[in-house]
Amino acid sequence: MRLGVDLGGTKIEILALASGGHQVLRERIATPQGSYEDIVRAIADLVHSSEKKLGRKCSVGLGIPGAISSKSGLVKNANSTKLIGHALDKDLSAALHRLIRIENDANCFTLSESSDGACRDAPAVFGIIAGTGVGGGVCIEGQVLRGSHNVAGEWGHNPLPRPSLAEVEHAPDCYCGQKGCIESWCSGPALMRLYKAQSGLTKSVPQIVEAAAHGDAIALDHMEAFYDRFARSIATIVNVLDPDVIVLGGGLSNIEALYHELPPRVEHYAFTPEGPSKIVKNRHGDSSGVRGAAWLWGEDEVALGRPRG
Ligand SMILES: [Zn+2]
Repeated sequence: MRLGVDLGGTKIEILALASGGHQVLRERIATPQGSYEDIVRAIADLVHSSEKKLGRKCSVGLGIPGAISSKSGLVKNANSTKLIGHALDKDLSAALHRLIRIENDANCFTLSESSDGACRDAPAVFGIIAGTGVGGGVCIEGQVLRGSHNVAGEWGHNPLPRPSLAEVEHAPDCYCGQKGCIESWCSGPALMRLYKAQSGLTKSVPQIVEAAAHGDAIALDHMEAFYDRFARSIATIVNVLDPDVIVLGGGLSNIEALYHELPPRVEHYAFTPEGPSKIVKNRHGDSSGVRGAAWLWGEDEVALGRPRG
């Protein structure tokens, strides 16, 4: 039995997967807003209480909104800033008396969809989470590709490709310190901000999409610009990795028009003379991050009772 834990800024979710990816337990608690130590204790308590309910000891994988530095072994790039600079994998392993695995949440999403989700038979998968931010992950043959600095897939902080003069002139500041990152143009908050600048109206992303569907000229123009920017950004992934499938997750993946608007535009911008790339919606929705954390331990490893390799 494998436990996956998804650590977010407001909630910690746990899920148990039996063989074949069958879900047997799922719970969530509020993330402690106190110290780092409180967070470690809360995760350990959640694992122990789940194991008590399941009646067995399990493997544990954890998804976090950040990465473990390959150089220092400490958490970096986390928007949950309490984690930064701590050896979370070591501290949690000590608290649980076992080896645990930690992975970036976008990598967990990609692993989940690659393992038993929307692209389970695809050798090379690029997963995109587009919501509050824009992140990504890479899975090759069902394994997460971390890269030598644990930042593989962090394409949301590349600059928007092929920018117009206006996009250069109005490149938004990004929290990472750069200007004009893909995330600062294509995230949910960016969509809302740009629509407000154009229309003077405050609308949620679903409201903007609905207004476009009803023929609202400003919303149509705005969504057209969004599809074009998103397609330019995805085209760079195609030119570098040429994945068999690109799977979309996060709140923006619920925009159904993406799946017919993006492929021809990506084909136009990418160096792909043999047809459009396959862009699909995720299978597991909000569960994908926590499922991917559980998949950090393979079924073969759990069956053998030891890590492979
Ligand atoms: Zn950035």
